[in-house]
Amino acid sequence: MSFRKRLYIIIDVFRKGVRKIAQITQQFTKEAIETMKNKYKKVLEKSPQGAVFRARTQDAVITAYNSGKVLFQGASPGVELEKWSAFASVSDKKTGHKPASSVKHYSLYDPPKNLFHNNHIGSDESGTGDYFGPITTCAVYVTKDQIKLLKEMGIQDSKAISDQTILTLSKALVELKIPYSLMILHNEKYNDLQARGWSQGKMKTMLHHAVIERLLQKIDDAPYEGILVDQFCQPTVYKKHLSSEGKALLDKTYFMTKAENYSIAVAAGSVIARASFVKEMDRLSEIVGIELMKGASQKVDEIAAELIRKKGEAVLSKIAKVHFANTKKAKGYL
Ligand code: MG
Repeated sequence: MSFRKRLYIIIDVFRKGVRKIAQITQQFTKEAIETMKNKYKKVLEKSPQGAVFRARTQDAVITAYNSGKVLFQGASPGVELEKWSAFASVSDKKTGHKPASSVKHYSLYDPPKNLFHNNHIGSDESGTGDYFGPITTCAVYVTKDQIKLLKEMGIQDSKAISDQTILTLSKALVELKIPYSLMILHNEKYNDLQARGWSQGKMKTMLHHAVIERLLQKIDDAPYEGILVDQFCQPTVYKKHLSSEGKALLDKTYFMTKAENYSIAVAAGSVIARASFVKEMDRLSEIVGIELMKGASQKVDEIAAELIRKKGEAVLSKIAKVHFANTKKAKGYL
């Protein structure tokens, strides 16, 4: 069966309403909204109540409200938002000062604009903020002609969709034979590296590097415009971690925060990594006989306390990131 045919079968499943939509909102001036409306005039749709306009592009549905708020929703809302970044309202209402976050500093590692619409690699990780469970990292290679189809399938930021949908989408990606590379840093190894002085940033760096290297081997000579890493630290820090292990940044590597909102390859990586994390959590729960919880909340402390009581503290090194404050808090319950 062809790629397209297999995909349409899967799309059919997702049209039945299992997907939620990724969205970003941003404040704009009235003038900026008028400019936007004019630019989108060929793709305008009926606007909802209280809206100045609504437009639909291949990347997102854009709705601008009288209040100046503009909502970008869809598979790649960031791609549309990016077009208007220069117009984004920067003055803080109370102080009139520009908030630091709205000042854009251009960097050598910013992805070129055409990257998202061409063959590229994207990588993302999961489990870094969760006390229980491993860190999973995945790099995915997407070709230009697959992008539209993957968007239609509902591939997007894994944080915007339910665990069940993530598992289904991840399975669909694997069945479509989209080239990817996945690595799981299990808790024992994680705790060992941490005890040897590795920061989580260094672990993530080495994981991203490893999955990207493996993926490059897998795709052989297939052409790509670049490699996009969902940014978790400054590129200079990333490079420093690499060089501390005798590695160097791969050619055409770019970094950007919230990259999953812009790049379908990063979004696909986030889906496969998250699915792997969810499956690992189920596996570990089965092993210890207690349902482990995601995150690092007080409920997590209570589960850790129960585990120490039943199995002894040593069990944590196999299923948890023991340097998190949760370990200490759990002991407080004993
Ligand atoms: Mg990420």
